[in-house]
This record gives sequence, structure tokens and C-alpha cells, in this order.
Amino acid sequence: MSQNALSLKVLEAYTRDVGRGVARIDYDSMDTLNASTGDVIEIKGKRRTVAKCLPLYPSDEGKGIIRIDGLGRNNSGIAIGDTITVRKIKAVAAEKVVVAPLEAIPPIDERYLADALESVPLIKGDNVMVPYFGGRLTFQVIGVTPAADAVLVTQKTVFHIAEKGETLRGVPQVTYEDIGGLTDEIKKVREMIELPLRHPEIFEKLGIEAPKGVLLYGPPGTGKTLLAKAVANESQAHFISISGPEIMSKFYGESEARLREIFKEAREKAPSIIFVDEIDSIAPKREEVTGEVERRVVSQMLSLMDGLEARGKVIVIAATNRPNAIDPALRRPGRFDREIEIKVPDKKGRKDILAIHSRNMPLGDTENFENRPNWYELKCPSCKKSLTEHSESELEKVCKWKSECPICARSKEEHSENELENCRKDWTVDIDIMANTSHGYVGADLEYLCKEAAMKCLRRLMKVLNLEEEKLQAEALEKLVLINSDFKQALIE
Ligand code: ADP
Repeated sequence: MSQNALSLKVLEAYTRDVGRGVARIDYDSMDTLNASTGDVIEIKGKRRTVAKCLPLYPSDEGKGIIRIDGLGRNNSGIAIGDTITVRKIKAVAAEKVVVAPLEAIPPIDERYLADALESVPLIKGDNVMVPYFGGRLTFQVIGVTPAADAVLVTQKTVFHIAEKGETLRGVPQVTYEDIGGLTDEIKKVREMIELPLRHPEIFEKLGIEAPKGVLLYGPPGTGKTLLAKAVANESQAHFISISGPEIMSKFYGESEARLREIFKEAREKAPSIIFVDEIDSIAPKREEVTGEVERRVVSQMLSLMDGLEARGKVIVIAATNRPNAIDPALRRPGRFDREIEIKVPDKKGRKDILAIHSRNMPLGDTENFENRPNWYELKCPSCKKSLTEHSESELEKVCKWKSECPICARSKEEHSENELENCRKDWTVDIDIMANTSHGYVGADLEYLCKEAAMKCLRRLMKVLNLEEEKLQAEALEKLVLINSDFKQALIE
């Protein structure tokens, strides 16, 4: 009886699951579906996709929900809060998978894809994301063999990267899972913006007006732009971004016409979100400016907003770090009459953000410190074989080569207990400690910190990687692990 289907409400994924092709449901749901942990389930929204079924955390049991990441939501054409149908299906090992990149990609060893996507279930048409040293590469699956309900990637799956296609569906550029530490703010944004954009009929029925403008204010780099992009993506709205200074300078003399064009495009492609960054430079308090241009631009902006239909599907999100510097006329009812403060993250927020920006990075942890029998797989200086390719006697008598600690380059036996502990600490990335020691950092700083740590790692490992070769070998890529001292050094600078 594997045909049982179930309707569940979609919620966002746990951070650790993002990009792993996982859907979490509770044990009762699994029973109904006759499914167990690790089975493949089909998820049907507007489109169909597949995922590996894992259990929800106990605190989420009994709520009738399913947790899927932004990619899975995009693949099945649904949003958070929607209801989808799931059923268990049978997946067979993938022999061959053809993917097309959705953006420009670096030259990449196709075998790396099988490694990165191992045990992820796929169907034709799915978009997949592959972590690639701190970033991610996105592909669309354009063919799978054998033909089956779903295929599972294994170490043996042969990947083929096809030319970039024209007709491929886009991937969500930013999803709510990409935003750390702003849970309450996301909730407010969803109520104020996503709900009216997706369900204008509710507002109509209740006779209430959807907001036309929402002001996000807070220090630079805290995620205001990110939040605006995410809500546009998640509401499947057209997104137009303009920046105040750009409007005022680049289109000098044409600023008002440019604003009219933007609003026209937004109406034509509705539902739309117009994002105005640094609104204070377009619409400073009138007493602060003398410029005729500013005054005209403000009144154009006001009349365009007044002209938006109350239940229209265009919402303007403006961002500023100086909320008191903007023209009060803009904050009257019917204009930017909702406000959300975006604060500098606290320790928990910093931890969330660090987890997000390092989730695609291979990080050192206790397990991969211990479970490297060869610790650092350099080739043996005398016979060029790897450590595991040697027999015991070859190692001891012929090559006389010992493995090296990734931190201090000594063999494991040459460490005292204490030294081993210290090397393990230098290896193991502890996000908790980093969140503790990065007080005052905003999201943009934390993102930079992670990128900088990745660069440190790259420099450290330069000699191990053979960058001369056109394509990096999968084995070489495997050696790239960011360790605690990479982060520590990045933090000091
Ligand atoms: P703002 O618009 O507030 O100046 P942005 O949204 O442009 O800030 O942030 C710049 C970058 O910093 C983002 O693209 C993102 O990578 C990172 N970032 C900022 N805030 C956050 C956050 N809360 N969670 C995750 N990343 C963040």
C-alpha cells in the first residue's frame, strides 16, 4: 500500500537541510505513507518534485506540516503556507544525469557533481544546487537514465554538463532560509507583503487595504535588501530595485520620468515589488533640502504611490538607515505607513547568519579530524602513492613516510595528548565561539568573514592543489576544508 497520499502544509527547512534534497515530515505522516526515514517521496504542488524523507524534530510533531527548502519549494512551485500532496515513490539508482547550468560556471570536474549530490533524489526538470567552495552552482536536470519515478544519485552516477539552455526555469535567488536572525521581521514582512500579493482576494473580501509601502530601517548590511529580495521571490513577484542616489544622479533631469517608468513596469508585470534603497537620498526632509529636483522627485513619488490601487498588486519597499531623515509626507497613511526595524544581530542572530554563510563550505569538525586515517592525503614523496595505497611494510621499510597533521605537519604519534587536543581545536570550526567573539558585526560583515576564511584556506592549501590543471580533480577539491584557524585569522584582520 505505497499509494497512500497525504496533504501537508509547507514550512521552511531547518538550516542544516538546505540544499540537501530533504523533506521532513513527522512519524505519523510517515506511517500513513508507509514510508521510513530515507525513503523517497513525491511532492506535488503546481509542479512535481521529489525529496528524501526525514523525520521532523519532536517539537514539530503533530502539526500536519512538511519542511522543504527554497529550492524544493521552487521545484514544486509552492510557497510557505501552501498545502501540497505527498506520497511515497520508488527511486532507482541513477546511471546518467544530464544537467544544464543556470548561470556561468567555472570549469568543473563532472565527477564532483556525483560526489556533491550523492544520495539526493532527482527527477527531470528539477533545479539542483551544488556547493562550490563557499558559493553554490545551480543546474537544471534535463535528463535522467534510467527512466523511473525518481532516481537517486550514487557515487557511480555519470554526470554530463550540457550547454546552458535558454528555456530553463530560474532558481530562487534568495529565500527566507538565506536570512539569519530575523525571524520576527520575516513574519511581519510575510503578513504585510507576501499575504496581500499572493492573496489579494482575502483583503478584498475583508474590505481592508493592503499596504502600498513598507519602510525597512536599520544600519547598513543588516539584511534589508536581502529581505526585500526574499519576499519577492517567495511571493513569486516581479522585483524591481532602484537606489535613491542612482535615481538622483544617473538620471539627472529625468528622475521623474524614470520613476514613472518603474511604476509602469511594476503595474504591467504585477504582482510586483519595487525596492527603493536609500530612500533618504530621494526624499530627504524638505527642510533639509533646497534642491528643486529633490522636491519634484518627492512629489512624483507621492503621486505615483497615491495612484496605486489600494488592492493593487504593487508594493513599494523602501530602505534607509536614517528613518528620521526622510520627508514625513512619505510616512502618512496610504504611503509608507508600515515600518519594520532591522536591528544589528545579537549573538543568536550572528550564529544563524554564520551558519547560513558557511553552510556550503566544507568545515573542519571533530569527526573529519579523527577520521582521516591519512590525515592529510599528500602523495608519498618517494613513490607518489597515497597513504592508503601503501602496504604496512612499504610504509615502514621502503618509503619511510608518515602522514602529517593538517595543523602542525607532524605524524599523529608524535603528538602528546595535549598537543593533539590543541591541533583538534585549531581544526574544528566552532560557530558558537565565533558568534561570541564577533560582537557588533552585521550580516554583511559575517558574510565577508566567511569568504575571507575561505580565502585563507585556499592560500594555505595552494601547494596541495594542482591549480595548473584545467579542471580541478575531485580528489583535490576534497582536500579543501576550512578550519578554525582560517576563521580565527580572518576575524583578527
Ligand atoms: P542592507 O540592505 O541592510 O544594507 P544587505 O541586505 O544588502 O544589507 O546585506 C548585504 C549582504 O550581507 C547580503 O547579501 C547577505 O549576504 C549579507 N547579510 C546581511 N544581513 C544578513 C542576514 N540577516 N542574514 C544573512 N545574510 C545577511
